[in-house]
Amino acid sequence: MSSVLVTPNPPPLPLSTSERRLAAYRPSTALSSRVYLPAVGVAALATVLIAVGWSQHWGGEHFTGSLVSLRVVLVGPLSLAMIGVFLVAERVWPAQQRPLFARGYRHDLLLTAVNAALVAPLITALTLSFVEVVRTSLPWIVLPRIGMIPQWAWIATIVVAMDGLNWFVHLANHRVRLLWRFHELHHSQEDMNVLTVFRTHPLIHVSYLLALVPGVVLLANGALSITVLVVYGSIVAFAHSNTRLSFGPLGRVFVSPNYHRIHHRLDGPQDVNLGFALSIWDQLFGRAVFPNHATVGIATGLPGRPLLVEQATSRPRHLAVFAAQMVAPFRPMREAEVPPPPRSTSCPPASSAGATRGPGGSPGRANVPSEVVAW
Ligand SMILES: [Zn+2]
Ligand SMILES: [Zn+2]
Repeated sequence: MSSVLVTPNPPPLPLSTSERRLAAYRPSTALSSRVYLPAVGVAALATVLIAVGWSQHWGGEHFTGSLVSLRVVLVGPLSLAMIGVFLVAERVWPAQQRPLFARGYRHDLLLTAVNAALVAPLITALTLSFVEVVRTSLPWIVLPRIGMIPQWAWIATIVVAMDGLNWFVHLANHRVRLLWRFHELHHSQEDMNVLTVFRTHPLIHVSYLLALVPGVVLLANGALSITVLVVYGSIVAFAHSNTRLSFGPLGRVFVSPNYHRIHHRLDGPQDVNLGFALSIWDQLFGRAVFPNHATVGIATGLPGRPLLVEQATSRPRHLAVFAAQMVAPFRPMREAEVPPPPRSTSCPPASSAGATRGPGGSPGRANVPSEVVAW
């Protein structure tokens, strides 16, 4: 008589914290339960703004033409060529050693494709609508044409003013909890790369509409060409690249990868180095922390992973993680899950733009002479 050895079913493996979060973050569950109403308010504001713009025929602008121009800026030939150069630079001078197809890279590539395909129409609609609303409700804001000043000077003025307003809105993104919920995704990247510039929630663009105001004010005197916008965007994209470069003395004017990495650092306040393309605003408002040996290649991301990231799951689940990240700002507020935005307890002294912070994030004086900053 043969005996049959019956093996009881093994108990299911306990789910990791990240996988439990992934299960809890299913869009259907999150949207059908309570939501964070202020975030819904941002979505409603965007909807109303676009409805107004649409009803006004986008202020006479051609929607499709504007969309095509934006796509050229985002993923046109010149932008792709620049990104290609930056990808090579990431392999030659890496800040952190990463495989060519690291999960973070693949995930940011997905976000880049989503931006080019789906978010670009949203940005176009928001932009045209906002400009039309500002022009019609505040007509005095548009300066008349002043012929004696060359156009390049106006364009330079628009770029600098736009960058300053981007800095201001970025600070607000870190200080206002509602805005932080949309900005959190950008800071969640643990494998920084040039495409991290596209790692943004679509509705974050509502807050950055303010940066369009200089372009409206100087509408009669000059407009930013696609080339200017590509160059501006390339500086911002390169600042996110996984390269150990600081630009030397030029780092006092332009945001370098080493400089912006400090803004994304895992273990310290992230409301420093807020500049987009220019580092002058951080220095002006005492929020500049210049890189040194200790900060090059420093870890990035969010402590405790309050937002689900692609590195947290046992196997790659990019689409599920992406869906969770899109829904995340609308999650009901739970203090344990959503810590307040990381911020510094005190501003770095304005007189010590070369100051750095130790690995633990504590403010400190520069421990290297500023000339060592150049990498
Ligand atoms: Zn930020
Ligand atoms: Zn960034």
